[in-house]
Parts: sequence; structure tokens; C-alpha cells
Amino acid sequence: MTQGRPLLNRRLAEFGTTIFAEMSALAVRTGAINLGQGFPDTDGPEEVREAAVRALRAGHGNQYPPGPGIPELRTAIAAHQQHRYGLAYDPDTEVLVTAGATEAIAASLLALLEPGDEVVALEPYYDSYAACIAMAGATRVPVTLRPDTSAGTYRLDLDELRAAVTPRTRLLLINTPHNPTGTVLIREELAAVAALACERDLLVVTDEVYEHLVFEGEHLPLAGFPGMRERTVTISSAGKTFSYTGWKIGWITGSPELVTAVRSAKQFLTYVSGGPLQYAVAEALRLPDRFYAELRADLLAKRDLLCAGLAEAGFAVYRPAGTYFVTTDIRPLDASGDGIAFCRALPERCGVVAVPNAVFYDHRDQGAPFVRFAFCKRTEVLQEAVTRLRKL
Ligand SMILES: *Cc1c(COP(=O)(O)O)cnc(C)c1O
Repeated sequence: MTQGRPLLNRRLAEFGTTIFAEMSALAVRTGAINLGQGFPDTDGPEEVREAAVRALRAGHGNQYPPGPGIPELRTAIAAHQQHRYGLAYDPDTEVLVTAGATEAIAASLLALLEPGDEVVALEPYYDSYAACIAMAGATRVPVTLRPDTSAGTYRLDLDELRAAVTPRTRLLLINTPHNPTGTVLIREELAAVAALACERDLLVVTDEVYEHLVFEGEHLPLAGFPGMRERTVTISSAGKTFSYTGWKIGWITGSPELVTAVRSAKQFLTYVSGGPLQYAVAEALRLPDRFYAELRADLLAKRDLLCAGLAEAGFAVYRPAGTYFVTTDIRPLDASGDGIAFCRALPERCGVVAVPNAVFYDHRDQGAPFVRFAFCKRTEVLQEAVTRLRKL
């Protein structure tokens, strides 16, 4: 404290400490297998890494790259959107390279929100959403994805979504495929989101970093729905798709007006980042479709391995349609239904770390019994985790 006032400002005070630091420290101290954090334990394609080495050696991107990102990468991003989804974006005016999806989220919200605006976001939500909404001085209005116990999935209640929109709502913040629940929004849900955005004249920011990690159904970009192209900022990233989460190369696509607005905030956050890595990601985006099919097949097998192991250990399993996370309900194993206490004890009990979904909720009670495990790990690591979890 100085001047009798806390150092951390009021907007961020509620985000002071996270459970992730505690859980990772616990993993190190107990030697537990860390299925809490969502990063792969092997690197992505060798040729992509080699492209980064070549760029570094050739002096490509070792000095400040252009503010919007190198042209090669912007062109590759636009080609990707065209090839995968039939969405045409001008690489010069409608694509912006960012320091991961994280900066894309921050810059979008800081650029597009005024203090007092309301943001409707799906709950449970990725942790940076709440913090960035708060930094923008706006208010989050969570719409809770509802677990369907018999189907083992989560669904968006469209009536709840519509009811959450008020005259102060500026923006819908969507995430599909969804972390942590693994929900992939289906066509009818996305069409309803799009219709609502158009009817109420709302902006949409859509986080699609797991676009290539879909096991059931298909990923449909919100920007492809009628009336959405001019009001939607689409966010993605190389981290999850190419298994280089440390590189922090992300991007947005959107109308020239939206991209210009987001760039106004982005230029004062990092300005630019990852010069040589941008060249490598441009090459990664040109990998053949086979790459994406193999990525999906690999993670699908891992999903099924972990889901089966968790079910055998006694968890109720919400089998994810996408992402590399599986949400479980601990209540069959632990009548208290306190996921936070459960995760704190799990490393000592059986040598595995997981994350309590409650930390992704404003309505903590709604998320209390749910616990998330990541399966972006080597098969032998998942097998060992499953063996350990059987002791429960
Ligand atoms: C991992 C993740 C991000 C962050 O992506 P980076 O490119 O590493 O910044 C954003 N949104 C969601 C939903 C994520 O899971």
C-alpha cells in the first residue's frame, strides 16, 4: 500500500491470484502428472521449427516486422480462411497479426469497448476474457453453458442468451470450440447468435483458436453467417493448431474498419512480436490438409483414451466434441462436489493435476463439481495418468 491504497487497481483486484500457479507448484512439488495446463508436451512439425531457424539465420524478422504482421503471413492467413471456409479477406486491410490470441482478445476488447458497456460471454470462460473486459472498464454478463447429463455434453440456452442482451450490450464474446467444456457450437446455435447480433446491432468477437481440433461435427466460423462479416472479429492462433504455444503468433480477421480499430489498441500493447516466427507460421499455414487430419486423429485417440480412463476411475465424463480438454463431474467420486478442494488434494492422492472449472465461472456454484483434464500429452503420459487415477 502507498497513500493508504492497494497497489493493484480496483479493476484487476479480483484477478490477483489464480489457482493455476498453485496447481503447477503442487505438480512440481509432488512430481504429479500435470493435466491441468493446456499445452502439448511435444513440439509441432519439425519443418515448421526448421522454417523458424532458417528465418532467424537469414535475418528475416530479426528487426521490427511491419505493424500489421509480415505480408507472407497475412497472405497465408487469408488463404487459410478462403480454403477452409470460403471466407475472403484482404491480407492488407482485413488481417492483423498479434502476440497470440491473448493479445488479439485484449486489443479487440480494449479497442471496441467503452467503460460501462456490457459484454455477453459464454460461461465458463477462458480466464483472460474477464480480465480484459475489466481492463476496458466494461461489465461482463455471463451466459452459462448448461450440462446435459444424459447426453454428456454442454449446450447453449438460446433463450438465456437473448435475455442477457440489454440496451447497454455492445458485444458478444463467443468461443467455439469451447474451452473448458469442449463444446462445439452447432449450426442452429451459431445461426441464433448471428441473428441476435444482427437484430440488436451488436459486435461479435469470436475466439476460434481450437478451429482445427474438432472430433464431432464441424467448426463453422461465425463470420460466415449472414450479416456477420462486417460485425465480427475472428481470432485464431498458431499455438494450438501447430503445437507451438510458446511462439505466441495469433491473428484476427475482420472488416477493414474493425481491423483498423483493433490495430489502434494493439500498436500500444506489443506493437509487434515474433518476427522470425511469423515466417515459420506462414509456412505452417501452407501444410497440406493431411496435417490437420493427422492432428485430429492423434488427439481423437488421446481423447478416447483419457475419457475411458476417467470413466473407469468413476468420473462422470463430458466427452468433448472439440479442443484438447475434457470436463468431468466429480460427484460420483466425491459427494461434497467441491472441485477446488478435489483438485488441491488430487496430486497427493494419486499423482495427477487437474483444474477446477469453478475458476472459469462467475456463478461459482454452477461450476463447483466440474474438473478439467488436458489430453494434449504423449500417449504414455496419458496411460500413466489413467493408471494413477484408477487408485481413486
Ligand atoms: C490457449 C487459448 C488462448 C490463447 O492463445 P495464445 O495464442 O496462446 O495467446 C485463447 N483462447 C482460448 C480459448 C485458449 O484456450
